Amino acid sequence: MVTNRLRGLGMGWCQSLLNLLFPPFCASCRTALSQAHALCPECLTSLPAPPENHCLRCGGMTARPESGCARCLNDPEAADATYFAFSYEGLAAQLIRGLKFGDHSEQSRLLGRLCWERLGEVLRWESVDLVIPMPLHAWRLIGRRYNQSALLAGELARYLDRPLVTDLLFRPRRTRPQTRLHARERQLNVRGAFRVQGEGVRGRAVLLVDDVMTTGATLGAAVAVLKRAGASRVSALCLARVMDGK
Ligand SMILES: [Zn+2]
Ligand SMILES: [Zn+2]
Repeated sequence: MVTNRLRGLGMGWCQSLLNLLFPPFCASCRTALSQAHALCPECLTSLPAPPENHCLRCGGMTARPESGCARCLNDPEAADATYFAFSYEGLAAQLIRGLKFGDHSEQSRLLGRLCWERLGEVLRWESVDLVIPMPLHAWRLIGRRYNQSALLAGELARYLDRPLVTDLLFRPRRTRPQTRLHARERQLNVRGAFRVQGEGVRGRAVLLVDDVMTTGATLGAAVAVLKRAGASRVSALCLARVMDGK
């Protein structure tokens, strides 16, 4: 007990010294702040809200979000819920690109925190058993050095106090980048792209974590595979949604 208190004091002292030597700053505009991995109040308010007209189940754009879109209404393999923290534009897009392509893995601390501040309340209502990141194909992982969704999922698992599981959902087939493909081509491109190993998801409620959703074809394929493997519920969390994605 006493040791813990001393250790706490020591940690606090170390942190203060670190803050003195390397003062923390806003991750966007570099204004000095009192804590690291944070945004200043101005940058915080400039973060774009997520779009409202998306299906609450699969995340696809729809005029009637509550009742589920036509695509997932009778689809038992569609996600049970999809959450977004931001629209993929402005500062949110800039931070996510930094995490994804800029080799700024530390950005996951900030994005995880921002995501939790926006969605923590609703995520607490989801009775999540396992937190699973959208996997990268092995070759893509070598090129990028880390899976940005796994870093983000790790942050959320910590906030939710649930296990982060990275060895159940795999991406055995390499797919072409979805960006230049039409909706139908995207669906074909991700067919058979995912596989669940073992029985670990059977009867469990899964939170699948991804960074950006455009049309939802990739996310939908991963959700379907988890459901086919027996997951009792699959909710998806994407940091941001592309506004003009269908
Ligand atoms: Zn700022
Ligand atoms: Zn839907």
